[in-house]
Amino acid sequence: MSDNGSKPEKVLIVGGGTAGWMAANLLACKWPGTEICLVESKQIGIIGVGEGSTPHLKLFFDAIGVTDLQWMPRCNATYKNGITFDKWSAVSGFESYFHPFAAQTDDVFTVPLFFRNIQARMQGYDVDAHPDNYFLETYLARQNLGPLPAESFPFGVAYGYHFDSALLGQFLAENAQSKGVTRVYGNVADVIVDNDDRLSAVKLSDGTLLAADFFIDCSGFEALLMQKALKVSYLSFKDNLFNDSAVVMPTTISAVLPVETTATALSNGWAWQIPLRNRFGNGYVYSSDFIDANQAETELRQHLGLLDSDVAARHLKMKVGRVEKHWHKNCLAVGLSQGFIEPLEATAIALSFNTIAQFIDYFQKGKFTNKFEEAFNSDINARFDGIRDYVVCHYKMNQRTDSDYWLANAANNNISATLSKILTLWQHSPDFAADMHKYKLMGSYQPKSWACMLAGYGVFPVKNREPSVDYSFYQQEVEALSDFIRRCGLNFKKHSELLAL
Ligand SMILES: Cc1cc2nc3c(=O)[nH]c(=O)nc-3n(C[C@H](O)[C@H](O)[C@H](O)COP(=O)(O)OP(=O)(O)OC[C@H]3O[C@@H](n4cnc5c(N)ncnc54)[C@H](O)[C@@H]3O)c2cc1C
Repeated sequence: MSDNGSKPEKVLIVGGGTAGWMAANLLACKWPGTEICLVESKQIGIIGVGEGSTPHLKLFFDAIGVTDLQWMPRCNATYKNGITFDKWSAVSGFESYFHPFAAQTDDVFTVPLFFRNIQARMQGYDVDAHPDNYFLETYLARQNLGPLPAESFPFGVAYGYHFDSALLGQFLAENAQSKGVTRVYGNVADVIVDNDDRLSAVKLSDGTLLAADFFIDCSGFEALLMQKALKVSYLSFKDNLFNDSAVVMPTTISAVLPVETTATALSNGWAWQIPLRNRFGNGYVYSSDFIDANQAETELRQHLGLLDSDVAARHLKMKVGRVEKHWHKNCLAVGLSQGFIEPLEATAIALSFNTIAQFIDYFQKGKFTNKFEEAFNSDINARFDGIRDYVVCHYKMNQRTDSDYWLANAANNNISATLSKILTLWQHSPDFAADMHKYKLMGSYQPKSWACMLAGYGVFPVKNREPSVDYSFYQQEVEALSDFIRRCGLNFKKHSELLAL
């Protein structure tokens, strides 16, 4: 039993979406000998829209010993160097910017120059401080080059993936079953909670009882175990993040395969475009307080040039927020059952991976007791809140004035104290990056990411001018950096060549 200091003999995972099968795979690798059973409902199905990831998906596959070559072709997957944000700002010259992932190596050369020029710009000098000119990943994305360099190249490039989430689910299900995980189909009709507020079994609609020592709630927005049975409270992010709906439809893939997600601001939200090997995945994430489902579908069709097409659209509702506790008693919530921040930075899979991997670490460190439950919950909450702040900032600092939606987002003062401090530093600090470290504001995103967004929007609060500095030298350095990046790019293959398409 998990409360008396020994590894659980039996784990029951409720839900067979991406979260459930990720949990099954990781547990099967980390806890050999533990019986793992996953129950899922054929009638309810999975949400199946998550199609973009951060570099955490690579960490997950590394952890379960699966290579890119083994899973990517099966899931129509492509590489992702980052995200282009289009039309989030109406500031001239800043209508679009690219958000690269944080890289360990080349950032050492590029980030200091980027920050120095931002400061110069804030002192009123006309130097280049647009993020697109500073990072190798951005160059690779613009040239449709994949992120895997020639072997002799010294810098690693961080990358994520695009994938068909239904196929990813199938791949993960097969992989987990090959490691001994049992798959059961059935509808959970009841959850049995004992006198000590611990879960003891779930009851399926055909009467079958599935008992276990430990339970993982991967039942999606239903949150059957953690929220419904154990009554763990839920914190809505609705005050910070207005979007609650999405409409989704595919389009034909282009001849040149992009290596980035595009997030284009529309009238009342934003639209993603995600390149897979066989199609683009598209969706419009919007707030139903500002636009209804029919209008949103029409606007998405217009955006995609599909007004006269009969391609079917799928409409979805999103619940944005998180539980107060992700681990409670003998239950862990993973995936949509633990929370969701909306898909803008495609962080849901990263959060699922962090939750499972960190839980395994803490549970083992605490000798399979709940000793570290509180520490774990506060870590995961900090991750959620850090991502929420970064996503909220896209809306709060948007530079559009063309709809009530964008004006309401800019005027929304329901932001966290952390985000408020970060924005104050951007406004006033002479060294934003150093002060982010100094004031311990490093949540889920590095100063580089914050600066890409704020400089990418063209938000440069002008501070005192230092008349003695000759900034022409700075511009020459940007040009030298661009040349260096271009030469680095010679070590990378075209995306389609890398995928052997
Ligand atoms: C519009 C949108 C876009 C998104 N884009 C991204 C993205 O780009 N990147 C990203 O990382 N994430 C994204 N996500 C999130 C991503 O889709 C989810 O995090 C991911 O799919 C995991 O979902 P899940 O497994 O938690 O839930 P689900 O996929 O909903 O799975 C829930 C499972 O529980 C089962 N279940 C429910 N009730 C019962 C019951 N009573 N009995 C038995 N079984 C039951 C279901 O059958 C299913 O198997 C997006 C989400 C939305 C809404």
